[in-house]
Amino acid sequence: MADSPITACPHCGTRNRVPAAAKGLPRCGKCQELLPWLTDATDADFTEIVEQSALPVLMDLWAPWCGPCRVVAPGVARAAEAYAGRLKVVKVNVDIAQQTAVRYQAQSIPLLLLLDKGAVRARQVGAVPTDALLRWVDQSLALSPAA
Ligand SMILES: [Zn+2]
Repeated sequence: MADSPITACPHCGTRNRVPAAAKGLPRCGKCQELLPWLTDATDADFTEIVEQSALPVLMDLWAPWCGPCRVVAPGVARAAEAYAGRLKVVKVNVDIAQQTAVRYQAQSIPLLLLLDKGAVRARQVGAVPTDALLRWVDQSLALSPAA
């Protein structure tokens, strides 16, 4: 598994190392506020990071060559901040995680999925502006029994 990403606390600015998979929710080591949970997964660690997640997962299936994927990336990061403690955001590079791409039928990317224990609750294909993306996440979380 890759090194844990460093996340700056939105409340106090302290840089925290956030694990890709954990039982509890990531909190700031200094002020104890909930941190945005934004991480990457591949085929090898998908079960641990996504299927075993206690929180609903917003999965962003993307690729480095995909222009529209860069358009949704800020909205995906914003969702991690806006729903800190309620949502885990996982980015999956379909060039690397090919089994996951096939499993979730990612023929067209960017593909955003709202997952509960790996099961699809909502699906959004193509680039969307940040405000529309956040509305979609909000509606999708309302459908999600784990939220
Ligand atoms: Zn903090």
